[in-house]
Amino acid sequence: MLKPQRGICCAGCPHRAAYVVVKDVIRRGRGHVICGEAGCPAVGHVHPAATACPGGQAELMSMYNKPVPQGTPEEPGSVVCAHFVLDADVAADDGTRFGAEQLAGEGACAILCVMASSKVFLSEGAVTDLGRHLQRLGYSSIALADPLDTAGTGDMLRELVEAGGVHALVFASPCAQLQRTAILAPAEVERVSCVGCMRCVQITACPALSFRPPAAFIDPDACAGCDLCSDYCRTRVILTPRADMTPAQRHAERLAAAGA
Ligand code: SF4
Ligand code: SF4
Repeated sequence: MLKPQRGICCAGCPHRAAYVVVKDVIRRGRGHVICGEAGCPAVGHVHPAATACPGGQAELMSMYNKPVPQGTPEEPGSVVCAHFVLDADVAADDGTRFGAEQLAGEGACAILCVMASSKVFLSEGAVTDLGRHLQRLGYSSIALADPLDTAGTGDMLRELVEAGGVHALVFASPCAQLQRTAILAPAEVERVSCVGCMRCVQITACPALSFRPPAAFIDPDACAGCDLCSDYCRTRVILTPRADMTPAQRHAERLAAAGA
């Protein structure tokens, strides 16, 4: 029997993509911190790629929770903090936990990363309402991104970090478990061309992706077609049926698969 791994998100999970992109851009380390309390609360028994995904504060976030480092007189602007939270927690907050003022002391740049993946956010109106609520919580800068558009989200994050200050960033992309109307076609590794660098496996830790010497392998029954691994393969040997689509078209396909 496979032992469930801690902190593994389901295949295709947009939360994974959000963490991967944020980590790629702001790079955890001295003066940079990724923290918060959002993980996937799903047990994940529905999707064929399901693993035990404990998520939440106690499990997943223990890997990310770090004390926020303070700037020094020599490097006063060195602290960048990305604080991950769940949409429902933000929606229920009156500003005492996630208000812009609360984050103002977290560094030269503090970004409240709101995971909007649940069913309610399949409606555009719900995303707009969340934006209005964030305005009431004091955020003057509110950005919207699909974390599975890794290039676009990365550019957006770089702009926010460069601008400094306090921002809210809503990561809107449907949970992979919501795929009901259609199952997205899986990605595939061109195994004869794969150089076996393991980059895709290490960066995504996707349960549908494994290393079967001498090359990476995607389980077609488990892959949810998010294409995250494809974005991070430098030799471009992870093939996706969505290669010719724009990020907006991919986003629309994921929404349609979730029945939006
Ligand atoms: S495309 Fe890659 S990262 Fe996405 S679910 Fe399939 S194997 Fe996992
Ligand atoms: S990142 Fe690309 S080349 Fe490296 S193991 Fe994965 S599929 Fe192969």
